[in-house]
Amino acid sequence: MAIDLITRRDWNARRPAGAYTPINSTRGVKVHYTGGVVPASIVQDHAVCVRLVQGFQKHHMDGNGWMDFAYSLAACPHRKVFEGRGPHKLTAANGAGLNSQHYSVLALVGSSGFTRPNNGVMHGIRDAIDYLRQHGRAGGEIRGHRDGFSTTCPGQPLYDWIKDGAPRPGGEPAGNSGGQSKPTKPAGKPGAWPGRYLAYKPDALMRGQDVADWQRMLKRKGYTVEVDGVFGKMTRAATIVLQRATGEVPDGIVGPNTWRICS
Ligand SMILES: [Zn+2]
Ligand SMILES: [Zn+2]
Repeated sequence: MAIDLITRRDWNARRPAGAYTPINSTRGVKVHYTGGVVPASIVQDHAVCVRLVQGFQKHHMDGNGWMDFAYSLAACPHRKVFEGRGPHKLTAANGAGLNSQHYSVLALVGSSGFTRPNNGVMHGIRDAIDYLRQHGRAGGEIRGHRDGFSTTCPGQPLYDWIKDGAPRPGGEPAGNSGGQSKPTKPAGKPGAWPGRYLAYKPDALMRGQDVADWQRMLKRKGYTVEVDGVFGKMTRAATIVLQRATGEVPDGIVGPNTWRICS
């Protein structure tokens, strides 16, 4: 399904009060929430979404004195994506010094009322990320505002989802088209992530069928590992190289996101 983009004209955005700072590419995208009260009725009424986004633009421009709405894009519970600053423009949402590294996507999710992202929000965020990868050279990282900045944003439910690899609801494969990360192959791939984090543990090496599966996956991608079912230093090193190449955090730990990227 293509992105359902609400252009600035469609949501009656004000003109920016200055010039945008152009950017060429980013390491990825950071996800935000509105915090505060988002009425539960938002799910039945898209007009609430429009008013919220307009209100944020007003607050950012008239209250904070910024030149525009801070976010690159915003996703609402109806799987619609509001055009904010858009691709190839510096966001103002991630915190000083952090804006050139990631685009920002605001989810219309609060800290009271509507607090848990529904399927529309989750798909909307993924649609927004795909769009920024296709049109803005966004890299593979998906992070939360709180990564690198002291804030509760984007709230625990959204943050848990991000840590889980921000999967699309219903098992639809995560879109990677146009991004800089390696495309995933839909056919002939190994099974789902085994459910435990695979890592190098020097005191008691992890071993098992899942480790062997992981090594086979790495090998298929051209990395040098022995398929012996023991997570040793070589496997860790290959995992880190893979993570670097795909814009993941290079921690050498195989969670659902790293698994999916290699499968
Ligand atoms: Zn935020
Ligand atoms: Zn909406």
